[in-house]
Amino acid sequence: MFAAPDQDRKPSPDDAVTPSADRPLAYLFLDFNAYFASVEQHDHPELRGRPVIVTPLASEHTGAIAASYEARGYGIRRGTPVRDARRMCPGIAVMPARHDRYVAVHKLLMKEIERHLPLDKIYSIDEAAFRLSRSERDPARAVETARRVKQGIAENVGPALRASVGLAPSRLLAKLAAERVKPDGLTVLEARDLPHKLADMTLTDIPGVGAGVMNRLEKAGIDNFLKLWNLQPKQARAIWGSVMGERFWYGLHGFETVEEPTKKSMIGHSRVLTREHETPDKARIVARALLLKAASRLRHYGLFASSLSLSARLRPEGGWETARRFSHSQDSFLFLKTLDDMWETFLTRQRREGPAPRIGGVTVYLHGLSKPGETAIDQLDLFAEPAQAETDSRRAGLWKAIDDINADLDAKFRRLGAPSGEAKRHISLASQSGLALNYLGAKIAFSRVPEEAEFMY
Ligand SMILES: [Mg+2]
Repeated sequence: MFAAPDQDRKPSPDDAVTPSADRPLAYLFLDFNAYFASVEQHDHPELRGRPVIVTPLASEHTGAIAASYEARGYGIRRGTPVRDARRMCPGIAVMPARHDRYVAVHKLLMKEIERHLPLDKIYSIDEAAFRLSRSERDPARAVETARRVKQGIAENVGPALRASVGLAPSRLLAKLAAERVKPDGLTVLEARDLPHKLADMTLTDIPGVGAGVMNRLEKAGIDNFLKLWNLQPKQARAIWGSVMGERFWYGLHGFETVEEPTKKSMIGHSRVLTREHETPDKARIVARALLLKAASRLRHYGLFASSLSLSARLRPEGGWETARRFSHSQDSFLFLKTLDDMWETFLTRQRREGPAPRIGGVTVYLHGLSKPGETAIDQLDLFAEPAQAETDSRRAGLWKAIDDINADLDAKFRRLGAPSGEAKRHISLASQSGLALNYLGAKIAFSRVPEEAEFMY
């Protein structure tokens, strides 16, 4: 599953002690500083060198979504209410966000940087990783390249658009290197600098260590960077609860892992309904159970979904299908609510057309799957509220805990020799109690993964 670039062998835990020459500089990571505010300064030269905040709307009753470094000097940060910002820094420029423009400038920036280096991965509108060539792996050469990139941006796009650059053997380390000096930094992190150069890192500042993982790390007694560094890949996998932990370990130790191409484009289940379950209310409970099962698999793979499709086959003939999009999520509550809304829309229309439909089968799929850090630029939730993201990750943590308990119960039942498909005492939602769980005990996944194109939107 893992392969270090330009190496034929699979990295192993022993690699942690192999010479750092095995892990040369390979990535350049750019993190644009106060990006939205910088684009405003770029487009309005009179704002350069001045305190600027960007707000989601032209309203005094909102908060900054970006603050220029000049504004930060007044203690103004992302999230500072406009009223407070005006009080802290009279005369501050308050600019309503122009997301189209930020995306357009992002494209110009990527095009300019690609004149120097091949793009590896876009992380967000203001962060991206690029690959260094073999000849650029020498630190002096890599720094020279980074300076050329910065100069190219200043001359060909605009001097207001500054970025902090990190150079390192893996993308994760290059990102951490870029974080070290802001704004306009240029930091080299070599394998031999580790772990001491990062020993002061706050664990939750490391991408991949969210609130849920931090909780598990603390339970395992890992409360500082050196302890995190000293984990074994297997331990990391156990703590993360997925292969993501192992991948994190390799990235942290300077091995870039080539991810298997995501074979899954969707996760879901389908079920033919017996006569007993063909009424809309009963069919809905089956659809919800299928969705909960799909969501549990989604979390198991460490994936996030951004849309849900629901289709129903009707008796004696006909069918109906629909899909909805949402912000990338692992939250079963959000999925269930989306499903219920879709179901309600379907029923309202059916009721207008005649008697309650009889439902012969339901299919539920989660689509738009991604791993953290793989969000494509056109899917960015530019307006997403930080509070919402926090609720999402808290809920995802809760569902992960439920998944773990259910998996544990499954294992215990299996040890006790319970035949598969036997009713099991699982943790589930009270609203799902109308469904005997053994109904879902049989194999209900498709035997192949259909292509997304096979689904009509
Ligand atoms: Mg940034």
